[in-house]
Amino acid sequence: MRAIDFRQMVGTKVDDAAILSGLENVLGLHWKSKARILAAYKSYKRRRGSTALTALNLSPSLAEQLSDLYSGKAAKHGLSWIKVIASTADFGYCPMCGSETHKTVEHLLPRKPWAEFSIFSLNLIPSCGNCNSKRGNHANSPTVKHRLLHPYFDSSILSKRLHITKISGPYAAPKYEPAVVSGLAPRTRAKVLNHIRKNIDLIVYQQYCTNRWSEMQMEAKAAGDEAALKKRIDFNATTAPQISGPNSWRTAFFSGLASDPSIVSWLFANRHAF
Ligand SMILES: [Zn+2]
Repeated sequence: MRAIDFRQMVGTKVDDAAILSGLENVLGLHWKSKARILAAYKSYKRRRGSTALTALNLSPSLAEQLSDLYSGKAAKHGLSWIKVIASTADFGYCPMCGSETHKTVEHLLPRKPWAEFSIFSLNLIPSCGNCNSKRGNHANSPTVKHRLLHPYFDSSILSKRLHITKISGPYAAPKYEPAVVSGLAPRTRAKVLNHIRKNIDLIVYQQYCTNRWSEMQMEAKAAGDEAALKKRIDFNATTAPQISGPNSWRTAFFSGLASDPSIVSWLFANRHAF
């Protein structure tokens, strides 16, 4: 989960209205329908992708055509920028869940029922396959209480530290849990909790944290004393937000580890058992 500057990342300004105009003939779009779709997108921007937006209920054939255009991502239709979002290495970390990868592009408001936003840039979010499949089409639907945090619209929330990894014993086989930080306003806390529950694939999260834990066991073996190990862990906790943002799994894990000196002590005391 990370705030991103989409237009800076893609390196080009996507003119959604111009792209839709260029597709008028392909879609057989009546000017009235085009005006409705553009008005809906204007509302989308004004209401920051709210799930309370009423879907236009486009005809099934138009909805299917838009869906096909999204799937094709064709340069001749002005949609090759979607491939750029999906493949650019600059994102590095999944803006939706915070894992160390992203491979896909997701509709923040799903094509059912919001077919009208199928090819619009602010509704297309880079994400990893794991959180994409965890969310399915239900995480943002007209009936949800909170919509997921939006990497562009919610950048003021996402630019803060929102969660850390809670590490629980027994430390011979620890459990890892993403925990919301204290001190958030109640409404923000509820949104963050919803976002974490719906986005983070806990099985993949456990595996990620287990791998980092194994690395720290090796660090403990190599460290001359406990202070040196603590310094190494603090260094990781300090540099992780600069490398991967304040809400990456890396940042959460090392912040969680650095915040509990008793775990660092345990790692050092048990270094010969690893
Ligand atoms: Zn993800």
